[in-house]
Amino acid sequence: MKGIMSAATTRREMIRLSGATLAAFYAGGAGPSGQLPGQPAGEISPSVPATPPSVMAIAAHPGDSFFAMGGPVALATHQGGGGTLLSLTLGERGSSTIAAAQYGSMQREASRKAASLITAEAQFLEYPDGELPVNDEASLAVCDLIRRYRPSIIVTHWKGSWHKDHRACYEIVQNAIFYAGLPALTRGEPAHEVRALFFADNWEDADNFVADTYLDITPVFQQYLGACSIFPMWRGETGFRYNDYYSSRAVECGCLSRCRQAVALMSPAGQRVRYLHALQEI
Ligand SMILES: [Zn+2]
Repeated sequence: MKGIMSAATTRREMIRLSGATLAAFYAGGAGPSGQLPGQPAGEISPSVPATPPSVMAIAAHPGDSFFAMGGPVALATHQGGGGTLLSLTLGERGSSTIAAAQYGSMQREASRKAASLITAEAQFLEYPDGELPVNDEASLAVCDLIRRYRPSIIVTHWKGSWHKDHRACYEIVQNAIFYAGLPALTRGEPAHEVRALFFADNWEDADNFVADTYLDITPVFQQYLGACSIFPMWRGETGFRYNDYYSSRAVECGCLSRCRQAVALMSPAGQRVRYLHALQEI
């Protein structure tokens, strides 16, 4: 984690990631391998040439995947890597005035259009909104998509949420990452080990959310806003001013990161552990 940690100089010991250091992190040039919860920590790997990052956002609802997780996805595609936004439901029960079936179709179309604006791909599993199940069927369905898209980074919900679908998504993703990395688990695609997992800064998932990583999204901020604005709810039509919240939050995080706009992320506990072989690595 040398490149990243050398930037961690503030009193809050936050990690600020620029595009360059992020690419190195994605590529495995820093940090222990096998960092995910429940897996043994590895040794610091030697530096390797940076390869384009690939980010998959996995959310309970389409709005979450773009508003709270879209920045890292947009940055990955901007750097020449892959970007996928997977929503486990269509969020079809999110409108009080539009019937669920129609609203679900609108959400699907908005997601596809928004994804194209950040050169990413939108995917759905279409579990019932509000009834997202935590079971092996859902976890294996997500596992299959992880193996298909092979992201180096996954961004998903933090479990400290009032929304049951968000908490369910957190659990499903933990299990899916575990399944995806098991070579002995035979599925349609070969096993894939996700390099790192981050939890997104989401106004609905704020219980005990503690940011430890700040990612500079300045180069893609306008693209990110453009993608989010495809969704009517972005402008506050369902009662919350997503546009004002997430755009001002990006500026706030940018101030902390000494850049224009940034997003805050939280690492799983095991991923925060550092393995140093020399004091110079601090
Ligand atoms: Zn949601």
